[in-house]
Amino acid sequence: MTRRQCTGEYKIKPIKKQVRALLGYPYPARIPREVFVEQWVGISTDEFHRAKDADVKYMRNRHPLIDLGWSRTDCVRYLSSLNLADTPKSSCLGCPFHGNSQWRHIRDTSPAEWADVVAFDAAIRQGNARANASGNPLLGEAFLHRSRVPLADAPIDHVTAAEWAAMQQELGDDEDPATLEEGVTDGCSPWACRGDADALTRDDFGLAT
Ligand code: SF4
Repeated sequence: MTRRQCTGEYKIKPIKKQVRALLGYPYPARIPREVFVEQWVGISTDEFHRAKDADVKYMRNRHPLIDLGWSRTDCVRYLSSLNLADTPKSSCLGCPFHGNSQWRHIRDTSPAEWADVVAFDAAIRQGNARANASGNPLLGEAFLHRSRVPLADAPIDHVTAAEWAAMQQELGDDEDPATLEEGVTDGCSPWACRGDADALTRDDFGLAT
């Protein structure tokens, strides 16, 4: 997995910009200590380790599901009672943490979105044009699917035993087979990226802003 700026660039920075606008203190205005927003983040009790404070004083995170003591199962039960049992995990369309079931769901239910992610996958093959030009070229090629096969041809329907054995060797023994099918269990929120949050840098979180 290469370095990603998705959460920082496309979630945290725009949220901070909008919060500053709502508070009436656009960047780089200094925001008084007593002026802040309360931001509710839907982290359940089974993933309490993902509940984090915001990194700026003008945003204070609350975690209402943890306050209620609700687990993921409690959330599903509640959604089911509202006929919303098929609510998907929150994530971006072209997330590299998707498993096969999520890729199939996009392909089989939304041809336009599938065409979008296939085109996106092709577009990232040589990495980030700006990084390449500035002397930080991508070494190798980038793919959205774990098989490192273009998404349009990736084995998202059926993985043969031989393919599985080859992938297992490449991925290492600690790769959970369920991850290949189901993807990363967690959904993604600005303050709890579904990837490895510990691997993110200050820049990922837009701390410069
Ligand atoms: S779902 Fe999260 S980890 Fe995946 S691409 Fe979006 S921001 Fe990045």
